[in-house]
Amino acid sequence: MYEDKEGRLIVVSNRLPIVVKKSGANRYELTPSSGGLVTAMTPVLKRDGGVWVGWAGNYEEEGVVLETLLRQEEQNLAYSYEPVDINLKEYELYYKGFCNEILWPLFHNLSVYCNFSADYFKAFKRVNRKFAQTVAEALIDNDFIWIHDYHLINTGEELRKNGIQNRIAFFLHIPFPPAETFNRIPWRLQIVKALLAYDLIGFQTETDKKNFLEVVTTCIDESEINAKMPDPATIVGKKRENKVAVFPISIDYNEFSDAAGSKPVVQRYREIKEGYHGQKIILGVDRLDYSKGIPQRLKAYRTLLKRNPQLHTKVKLIQVLVPSREDIIEYGNLKREIEQLVGEINGRFSQPGWIPIQNCYYTLSREELLAYYRASDIALVTPLKDGMNLVAKEYCVTNIDREGVLILSRFAGVRQQFKDDALLVNPFDEESVVDALKKALFMDSEEKHKRMEKMQENVRKYDIYWWVDAFLQAGKRQERGRKKMLSADHFSTVVKAMKNASAVTGRD
Ligand code: UDP
Repeated sequence: MYEDKEGRLIVVSNRLPIVVKKSGANRYELTPSSGGLVTAMTPVLKRDGGVWVGWAGNYEEEGVVLETLLRQEEQNLAYSYEPVDINLKEYELYYKGFCNEILWPLFHNLSVYCNFSADYFKAFKRVNRKFAQTVAEALIDNDFIWIHDYHLINTGEELRKNGIQNRIAFFLHIPFPPAETFNRIPWRLQIVKALLAYDLIGFQTETDKKNFLEVVTTCIDESEINAKMPDPATIVGKKRENKVAVFPISIDYNEFSDAAGSKPVVQRYREIKEGYHGQKIILGVDRLDYSKGIPQRLKAYRTLLKRNPQLHTKVKLIQVLVPSREDIIEYGNLKREIEQLVGEINGRFSQPGWIPIQNCYYTLSREELLAYYRASDIALVTPLKDGMNLVAKEYCVTNIDREGVLILSRFAGVRQQFKDDALLVNPFDEESVVDALKKALFMDSEEKHKRMEKMQENVRKYDIYWWVDAFLQAGKRQERGRKKMLSADHFSTVVKAMKNASAVTGRD
């Protein structure tokens, strides 16, 4: 466990683990949000104290007075929340624009979806500066700053520009693309330089790390940055040394495994099983996103049914689509495409008492999700590209009977851990998915057990707590040798300077 008692942990993420919701006329309340990051960070913050910096989901224009709500919330906590104010226009340009119309598709190697608008980049820098300012206001002594994900790539650099010398680490939750894709972004050099402001840069997989290092090597070779790479994990620049390392994110193994065996889940899982009358259940669980390869998956299932009439009435594809980014045009188009395909397949193959696809467009409760995981004979996890894919890990851990089979895209980050035991497919190659489906449908129990056990063991060993500890240890190791720390006075001077700079120049 992380034992640097002197320095607190400052977690910085786009969203805080709490969300402000309107509860009446001029009344607001805080509701907790869940997810992997919250599960991972909360125990460390509880133990060591610290601060979580992020956006609470409200717009400046709404005039919500967060202070009182937050301080009430914090009364029973050993750590505090520091909200970043974001206005509606910034949300449009920074979040919907730069994050979701540029970085998300580019980093998922789907640059045809990118909309390279200079206004988006300006807003991105402005909002990252706001995050940096909130971090600087919260800093004391040798706090360790851990910044999460693509929304905040520039936050570290903004802190450095203002003289913050604390250890700052960054973890990219999404993939890092190959150099040829990355170089399409007009601000590629600014993004690389921003990443080099961190002491530690963490990636999900070796492929992501390799891609990043290739980009850096090109920049060094073309004299765009002045740095050296003495080994494949270190970049030495004029101002600092960056460590580059891999930390595959995970889940809380015990929590998932216990919950999967809990009474309500078992009861619901039995009901689901009975409801499908012995049909083999193939499950897809995805946020509605073009990176998840859902139309390609549906087409593969269509081909399976077309070629294998003996499977009709014997199989059922349950596709759970979690609503996401509904206000972005591409996502609306994707939803229509999926609905059309589902309609076509169901129209073509349905028989009395059987429809081949059940399409659910809503978020499942945790209990319902686990019951579906347990009830499914096959999980079809076939993203075109995915940073990790936690659904794959959750499916395996909850598969207590070990009677399930995981069909997994070779472009999901989790592939590096599951490559020997999942059935690997290329989601762009329909034949490979059809073949894997057939193999999974007819796999014997012994093989299923062996494969599932090994994947479960992998997640048990490398769970979410391992991930946090490994990252913090790596960040801490770099601290050796760094003696000089800044005083509290210094921080307040920095904050004042940052505030003045944005107020006077409104600079981007
Ligand atoms: N999930 C959920 N409700 C649902 C379906 C999924 O909370 O109805 C969760 C699921 O448990 C998983 C997450 O959504 O933790 C999806 O994470 P993943 O890494 O697979 O993909 P992402 O959405 O982050 O791209």
